[in-house]
Amino acid sequence: MSASEIDVGEEVRRGVADVRARIGAACARTGRDPGEVTLVGVSKFQPEHLVRAAVAAGVHDLGENYAQAMRDRAGALSDLPAVRWHQIGPLQRNKVNMVVRVASYFHALDSVGIAEALGARRDPADPLHVFVQVNIADEETKAGVGPAEVPDLLAAVAGQPSLRLAGLMGMPPAPERPEDSREHFVALRELGERLGVPGLSIGTTDDFEVAVEEGATMVRVGRSLFGGRHQQPRR
Ligand SMILES: *Cc1c(COP(=O)(O)O)cnc(C)c1O
Repeated sequence: MSASEIDVGEEVRRGVADVRARIGAACARTGRDPGEVTLVGVSKFQPEHLVRAAVAAGVHDLGENYAQAMRDRAGALSDLPAVRWHQIGPLQRNKVNMVVRVASYFHALDSVGIAEALGARRDPADPLHVFVQVNIADEETKAGVGPAEVPDLLAAVAGQPSLRLAGLMGMPPAPERPEDSREHFVALRELGERLGVPGLSIGTTDDFEVAVEEGATMVRVGRSLFGGRHQQPRR
């Protein structure tokens, strides 16, 4: 490692410590147990040495948007057996096998056909945990289903012994301030409560503290952990 890579590793350690402290503070404000909130480090577009630094700092859940990228990363980091992989972006039918082989979690289920394809290929002894993605603000550019379509997807997941429902996932419109996301998180939580759904994958660098206050069980954070340098804009 060069000296600058060591420095950057230090930045990642600080980023991880800072995000964990902010999650802890949000839990304290709302009387939650920080053990209920899993930090998923979003490693998309990040160089491998930074991802390794995050794992060394205790981030054992890593998320990628694209199935090929997740497969390639998992191969490159196969010496790190503690990592659980999360597919956080939508999945095309022809990429289903990559997720089946590599992922522990899929955060972006939005079609019955994909649920069936995943379910048919996954080993029921090692179930894939899935979040149904809801397009919470009904944005044309966002993946996910409308609230009315969620029950069909829940039924599709329940019908597959090799899938386990982890909850609902949502990504609100890019907020100007973190508070802007709160109403969307509340709406998603209330939808989950009405449908008896357990968890919530909500919150990114833009708004993860608000998400924790509103019940996130998984937050998906990239830039705050790794710094924005290598990141492309996401919305
Ligand atoms: C990129 C991405 C994230 C992380 O966003 P940051 O702003 O880097 O924290 C979370 N969820 C999804 C679906 C993403 O694509």
